[in-house]
Amino acid sequence: MRRLIWLAATLVKVREETATARTLVFDAPGWPGHLPGQHLDVRLTADDGYSTQRSYSLAAPAEGERIELTVELVDDGEVSPYLTEVLQVGDQVEVRGPVGGWFVWRPESRAPVLLVGGGSGIVPLMAMVRARRLAGSRTPFRLLYSLRDPGRRYYADELRRPEPGLDITYLYTRTAPEDWPRKAGRVMRDDLAENGWPASFEPDCYVCGPTGFVEVAADMLIDLGHAPDHVRTERFGPSGG
Ligand SMILES: Cc1cc2nc3c(=O)[nH]c(=O)nc-3n(C[C@H](O)[C@H](O)[C@H](O)COP(=O)(O)OP(=O)(O)OC[C@H]3O[C@@H](n4cnc5c(N)ncnc54)[C@H](O)[C@@H]3O)c2cc1C
Repeated sequence: MRRLIWLAATLVKVREETATARTLVFDAPGWPGHLPGQHLDVRLTADDGYSTQRSYSLAAPAEGERIELTVELVDDGEVSPYLTEVLQVGDQVEVRGPVGGWFVWRPESRAPVLLVGGGSGIVPLMAMVRARRLAGSRTPFRLLYSLRDPGRRYYADELRRPEPGLDITYLYTRTAPEDWPRKAGRVMRDDLAENGWPASFEPDCYVCGPTGFVEVAADMLIDLGHAPDHVRTERFGPSGG
């Protein structure tokens, strides 16, 4: 197995996604490339030598040695406030990766795909959507994106553009737009049954988000008849140490 090493990554671009999340584009010389769904570790080191690290999903296929992450501010957090509010273009962090070999989608795969994301759990799923587009794949994708309210939507302009073979359903948990056909509320079995694929199509399902969301959604998919080894999960619980 290849040994992962820390690389210096320089912030080259920032895109504001919402009031509390931003996409960070880094140049990371030596980056070996990655598959959609994988993540990396970010390490910050203070002047006094104290250092800390967290995991972040890769939000897009690599463009050479250019990689991007999308980070949500956790109010009382140690690392995310620095990444979302302090880090400036030209600043450096260290990155190590890619990490993870199970929660990945391969563009050569032909099985239909169901993506179920809660909050920032959309990030690795977006990498899959972008990889599909880049590969010119016709594999049918359905994306269920659960989020608190319309203001929390990441990648809003990009996801608004119609893409053949990609169906998107937004599931608002607190506030839905006016006239939205579905009442605001947590993801339910019917949401997955109506907007996902029938289990008989044997889709590859990818579920990502906060631990509670992932457990509930994955259980519902299995209850709907999807084989457990077709339901891949990634939990965005606290990481690092
Ligand atoms: C594989 C993996 C991929 C991840 N990818 C992303 C990503 O793409 N984008 C992203 O924004 N985050 C992602 N995370 C979460 C990320 O690693 C950090 O946990 C998060 O940024 C908070 O770090 P922090 O240092 O700000 O908070 P900490 O100082 O670690 O924690 C502060 C407080 O917030 C709580 N907390 C920590 N993390 C979370 C969380 N995720 N949600 C709610 N409460 C939390 C802690 O329990 C604690 O009470 C990922 C996590 C994993 C395991």
